[in-house]
Amino acid sequence: MREIYPAFYKDFKCIANRCEDSCCKDWDIDVDSETESFYNSVSGALGDKLRRLTVTDSYGERVFISNNGRCPFWNENELCDIYIGLGEEHLSRTCANFPRVHIDYGDFREHLLSFACPEAARFMLKSTREDYSDFGGSSELELAQDSGDFFGFLLKARERTLSILLDRDEPLPYRLCDSLEFNAQVQSLLNGGEPEPLKLEGADSPGCRYIFDMHLGFEIMNGEWRQKLSNASALCEKLDITEDFDRDFEKFMLYYIYRYYLGSVDSPDVLYSIKRIVCAYIVTGTMDAAQRLEENPRSRMRILQRYSKEVEHSYENTEKLNSTFDSDKAFSVESLIAMLCSRIEK
Ligand code: SF4
Repeated sequence: MREIYPAFYKDFKCIANRCEDSCCKDWDIDVDSETESFYNSVSGALGDKLRRLTVTDSYGERVFISNNGRCPFWNENELCDIYIGLGEEHLSRTCANFPRVHIDYGDFREHLLSFACPEAARFMLKSTREDYSDFGGSSELELAQDSGDFFGFLLKARERTLSILLDRDEPLPYRLCDSLEFNAQVQSLLNGGEPEPLKLEGADSPGCRYIFDMHLGFEIMNGEWRQKLSNASALCEKLDITEDFDRDFEKFMLYYIYRYYLGSVDSPDVLYSIKRIVCAYIVTGTMDAAQRLEENPRSRMRILQRYSKEVEHSYENTEKLNSTFDSDKAFSVESLIAMLCSRIEK
């Protein structure tokens, strides 16, 4: 199988207690069965603690009981007691792999880093499209030719979507509109129909507050994130997203498209990932603009990284996004295009 890595992948190293956030914070830590079997054989105080603090969660997964949102093995020096006591090779699979992810497409496997890790996000914010496009010596379109009809079609659609999103001749909101329009046509073909022109004439912009309302109704792990989201929500109709932010958001889109677009092989809905990008743009871009008004603004990396942790990495929140796209007309392609255009034309 062809293994595809972005150029920066091999340079990533966890920065442990120098990390501004941590994967040992806010998340349940899954314990896979092989690791748990080993933990059952560990003697002494660490073994007792490992057994005492491993429980079954409401999804039937074995996890460590969190301690006020912290992994119970993350010590006061912000280092891992399991790593120190048993070695890296005995971390659970989740801990050993994060933020590395791989997506298996049968003929080839794409490897990525997750934006929810600050150090990985720093690498990705410096990346270019070419960094993701080392397809083992062939181009993405050659990869499409080597794939079956359906998969080849999706690969070409992904390539075209990225070209639209990264075309700096257009302001980013227009690129998002073009990408929605293009993928609405792709979706019609995937559904077995013919591409149909959109009915854009006369579509009213619903403003953008409803996107914040939806995010404020999500499961939120961090109080500071909720506060910043509320602040941005209050100002969302007044603030403009800066072009400077757009440059950084391009890197987030690049990551997001590589991570999710081909997911539509299993559930062919390419529009979900584009609509999620539009929502992420409005929320994080407005948060960035709102923070510029503050004395000590959070870095852009932290806004995008935290969005990834709070929304992208939450199964519940992603499901809520997708089901709202299905049920609420304000998230139709036409309505989102009207909302994006009105931001430029106001
Ligand atoms: S979030 Fe990334 S840098 Fe931070 S502790 Fe986890 S793997 Fe290391």
